[in-house]
Amino acid sequence: MSELKIKKVPRPKLSFWENTYLLPIFQGMAITFKHFIANLLTGGSKMPTVEYPEQQKVMPEGYRGKHRLTLRDDGQVKCVACQMCATACPAECIHIEAAEHPDPTIEKYPAKFDIDLLRCVYCGYCVEACPCDAIRMDTGIYTIFAQKREDFIIRKEQLMGLSPQAEFADNARPKQGLGPAPDGYQYPAPHPQPIPQPE
Ligand code: SF4
Ligand code: SF4
Repeated sequence: MSELKIKKVPRPKLSFWENTYLLPIFQGMAITFKHFIANLLTGGSKMPTVEYPEQQKVMPEGYRGKHRLTLRDDGQVKCVACQMCATACPAECIHIEAAEHPDPTIEKYPAKFDIDLLRCVYCGYCVEACPCDAIRMDTGIYTIFAQKREDFIIRKEQLMGLSPQAEFADNARPKQGLGPAPDGYQYPAPHPQPIPQPE
């Protein structure tokens, strides 16, 4: 059995002032005071913080936030219920029920499109798999909350009501609900267990 080699690391010797901890305390207070004065002079406009939860930070480009379903020009869902995203999803958390579309130029549409956000691992495979850019994860929404497991299942109408974070020009987005109904689209009656959305 080889002998264990122990390397002794010498303890640094603290000076008299370091032992009193007074100097670091005053240095810390000076930094805090400097930021306090700077924020007073600029009205807080340069503060890196936001008034959470009323405002939420815009996440970096490419951040995979809550999903959304994109819309056609006429406000209908772009998804053609091909099931590619559900097939690619490693967490099997996408549930789609396809239906015949009354418009003969559109083969199918999703009568139901649910994503179980508790199972989702935010890998983005669904976005990559979609052949018609119908699902994106560009909302920037990272706050997902509910009181019951069932409420974490996000429905088609909710996915259609979300918007990309790029639409918010300032550095913070407001609370996001379902969003206004697209032209000509009527939201169906609320699901019995809707996901509570911020006002
Ligand atoms: S992000 Fe990944 S885990 Fe979540 S729904 Fe898409 S494919 Fe499934
Ligand atoms: S979101 Fe895209 S991949 Fe998924 S079913 Fe709709 S069209 Fe197909």
